[in-house]
Amino acid sequence: MNLPIFLKTTISVYLNICLLLVSTFPLLGQDNYFQQEANFSIQVELDDQLHQLRGQWSMDYHNNSPDTLTFIYLHLWPNAYQNRSTAFAQQELASGSVDFYFAPEEDLGFIDSLNFSSHNTSLTVLPTELGPDVVKVVLNEPLPPKGDIRIESPFRLQFPASFSRLGHVGQSYQVTQWYPKPAVYDRDGWHPMAYLDYGEYYSEFGSYDVSLTLPANYLVGATGELQTKEEQAWLLDRARATAQKSWSDNDPAVYTSPAFPASMPEQKTLHYKADWVHDFAWFADKRFHVLHDSVTVIGKTQPIKVWSFFTDEQAHLWQNSLEYLKRSTAFYSQHIGPYPYPQVTAVQSALSAGGGMEYPMITVIGLAADGRALDNVITHEVGHNWFYGILASNERTHSWMDEGFNSYYDHRYDHQHYGSDTLLPKVMSGNTSTDLDEIGYRYYACQRLTQAPDTPSEQLEFYNYWVGAYGTPAKALHQLEGYWGKSRFDQAMQAYFREWQFKHPGPQDVQATLEREGGDDLSWFFQGFMQSVEQQDYELKKLDQGEQPQLNLTNKGNVAGPFALQTIDSNGDTTLNWHPGFIGDKQIGLANKKYDQLLIDPAHHSLEAYRQNNSWQKGWGKLAPPQLRLLTGIKSDTKSTLFALPLLGYNKDDGVLPGVVLHNRGIIPQTIEWVAAPFYGFQSKTLNGMLGLQVRIKQAANSTFREIKLFSNLRSFHFATYEPEDLPLSFQRGTAGFSLTFHELPNSRWVPSLTTRGLYVNTEEPNFSTDGVFLGTQDQLQDIYEVSFEMDRDWVLSPAHLRLTYEHANYTDDFSRDQMHNKLLFEGKGKFLYQAQKAFHWRLFAGFFLSNSLQTTTYTPAQAFSLFDRGTDDYRFDNAYLGRTATDGITSQQLGLRAGGFRAPVPTAFQVGRSNKRMISVNTSIDLPFTPSWFPLRPYLDAGSYVAPTFNGDENKFLWTGGLAIEWLDGKIGIYAPLFGSPEIINPLKEQGGLGERLAFRLLITDLMPWKWADGLRGW
Ligand SMILES: [Zn+2]
Repeated sequence: MNLPIFLKTTISVYLNICLLLVSTFPLLGQDNYFQQEANFSIQVELDDQLHQLRGQWSMDYHNNSPDTLTFIYLHLWPNAYQNRSTAFAQQELASGSVDFYFAPEEDLGFIDSLNFSSHNTSLTVLPTELGPDVVKVVLNEPLPPKGDIRIESPFRLQFPASFSRLGHVGQSYQVTQWYPKPAVYDRDGWHPMAYLDYGEYYSEFGSYDVSLTLPANYLVGATGELQTKEEQAWLLDRARATAQKSWSDNDPAVYTSPAFPASMPEQKTLHYKADWVHDFAWFADKRFHVLHDSVTVIGKTQPIKVWSFFTDEQAHLWQNSLEYLKRSTAFYSQHIGPYPYPQVTAVQSALSAGGGMEYPMITVIGLAADGRALDNVITHEVGHNWFYGILASNERTHSWMDEGFNSYYDHRYDHQHYGSDTLLPKVMSGNTSTDLDEIGYRYYACQRLTQAPDTPSEQLEFYNYWVGAYGTPAKALHQLEGYWGKSRFDQAMQAYFREWQFKHPGPQDVQATLEREGGDDLSWFFQGFMQSVEQQDYELKKLDQGEQPQLNLTNKGNVAGPFALQTIDSNGDTTLNWHPGFIGDKQIGLANKKYDQLLIDPAHHSLEAYRQNNSWQKGWGKLAPPQLRLLTGIKSDTKSTLFALPLLGYNKDDGVLPGVVLHNRGIIPQTIEWVAAPFYGFQSKTLNGMLGLQVRIKQAANSTFREIKLFSNLRSFHFATYEPEDLPLSFQRGTAGFSLTFHELPNSRWVPSLTTRGLYVNTEEPNFSTDGVFLGTQDQLQDIYEVSFEMDRDWVLSPAHLRLTYEHANYTDDFSRDQMHNKLLFEGKGKFLYQAQKAFHWRLFAGFFLSNSLQTTTYTPAQAFSLFDRGTDDYRFDNAYLGRTATDGITSQQLGLRAGGFRAPVPTAFQVGRSNKRMISVNTSIDLPFTPSWFPLRPYLDAGSYVAPTFNGDENKFLWTGGLAIEWLDGKIGIYAPLFGSPEIINPLKEQGGLGERLAFRLLITDLMPWKWADGLRGW
């Protein structure tokens, strides 16, 4: 059945409702289905001096449910911008944005002057715990099934600045989520929801009658059909004028935001009507250019009017916008079902929530990178007319039903018009046909960071929202399309559209329709990929090349997704067949041939979590010489891949160090990762370098630990030079250990982890006879055992890192005596933002020797606590120094960050600020409010107290220093000018010479290595 859905007059619309309800009544799964209806009449006037709307709102609400309602939840979403504690404000912080939190008062927005009434009697309005943008309007009389009620109210809306969707930039207005709107009441009850930036909406269908009064020279794009004849004629005139223009890429107007012309004193009133929609949005700007055309689509006789509104900014891209609008409307109509509305509009305007935003019949688009990107965003937003507009699922709880399905189709459109080129640079993708959806999914899935896509948006972490709502479902649909073939897939989706258009389908509804139409069990898709974090991981185990070749396969995951198997036989003939999915082991019989290569999912059509076990080939297989590539990227499906990066290093004792970093770490994390970095020291004339190995132990979806890693590495460089012989001295450092990372603690931003490691450091020292003759070198050994408990807090206003460590060490001291200690160390660091980009930075260190064989002596070796983290104090060789033992020159002024953290390069020779017992210190700095963010100038102050050994016994000491710092990357890189402090610190510095000689710098080289960051991208 295919009904002519949209007819302009109200009578035919109502006739249609009846037809639609009757025709779909007997369908399975819709037995207890009902939906409410809400029709609106709104009259407003724009005040473009105060950036306000003032007007009247009324709603006719029809109760089609079998229940009697005593109240109605109303959304007052402009109130999301009212203060810092709304759900929107909190979500902005959670996603790492502080713009709204620190916004000035005049940039906030709200809706007020409300007085809800029915039959001229005021209604009681109750607050809800969801915040000021959701209220409960209590009805004076219960509303029975089939009952109607009209609720009216005046209102005033104060536009916020552009923080999300509703807003204004100067006199450009984005009027969205702007009027009181009822929450949906459906089979599952009420669905009230606070406004969020990511996490969308759920609304009742109905009709809109909207009148807008504003200065006569505004141009307006809106949901609905414009009823005002003079305005229609004026717009067509403007469109004809725009069509005469053309913009070239080097037009000076391009990329400049034009000034606003003065508003005319005359006002005009524009009248719009819209039917069968569940929202109404409009955009007003005096600077708009207009383009107009129409398009006819399959399944509909009436042509659809096409409008586009844009300013000079990017006009050179927008002059092609009608083409994009027409062909995307036609594309979706052809593949899913005919576009039911009379017009389709795209508007270029300010948007601070993604690249584009959908409303019925109208979409708003921000700035685009190029023509293809603009086409892609317009297509995606136009596509939402189907997945959101017509198939109006609950976007807040099932965002994949609108974003994911829509993304699948916009990818298909993009592929049809632009070919298979993805946005991913070729050099990164190797020769695989991967795409960003797959990379996003696997990057998280392989670290067990994924949340199920079918998770309410407010519970989804920022990155999981994008992966779960868009890429993962789009890829899973791609997998289904591959398995079924396009025509069976399209037929099933068209049936879904016919059955559920203008309704509120849930996951169970789309599953039932697709399963029935396609004749397949799709629990792998819905219960597997959408509603769980289980994975699909096929492995080609072995091929028995006998009379009847048998292929042994295993699915190591718990999602039985269908898969494609490609075979290449000894004649080079290729076949590709899709197979139904399974879990565990399976044998597949192959045609009687000799095979050269077998490969699962060669076209990257599916959500396969691990791809290194997807191929089999004759001969050496994976042991064949690897593919060599630069830097990193996506690994080959059939070969092992080796990444290489030439690097030039330097330290004072090795000299210039040309070398190469070789590793197997692709963009996607994997089970075994290694790195080898040989460097040749031009001065030491030896080979130096490092080797690292990391093994991830995969955790089940419900494990206590998110990840368990085993690690080991070896490092050897030169760290000192025995000057009389000009002999560079080397160190060798080996570590091995494991780390257990827990899941993020619920309702906090803390992630706990436990790390234990053993550390072995061997340093070469000059050896002398008793009468001082140099005999050569000898080894000095040190072994250290550590257990650390760490807590990381990723919260934009006050991120923090805490670490408590117990350390046991045995070592040989400078006098060749054996020593040992047990110490406890605590380090906490973080910052507090006091305005956007400006923070107070803090660090606290406390150390205590539980036992120390040197406790009673005045000798303080490197293993003692030190206020100054110089190269010589880094006994664990954790950091890399340009001159670890340098006593003069710029390399001697490098500091690390290990214990006291004092930002002053006091030479070791002064023996100040050292303790064999205990030490406590604080390091603080504050960003100056007026400096630009690229020049993070901060006054700093360090203070510490410790027990100093003296010949007269222990002495409690307090030292401090302060000055000016410039720090980047949370202090991993810094330059310090110590200006004041205790005489014990300032006097030795003065002896060094001028300010240049007492500057210190910090460069935490090992913390800046790419592999430290590769897994830490989830900082948002
Ligand atoms: Zn979207």
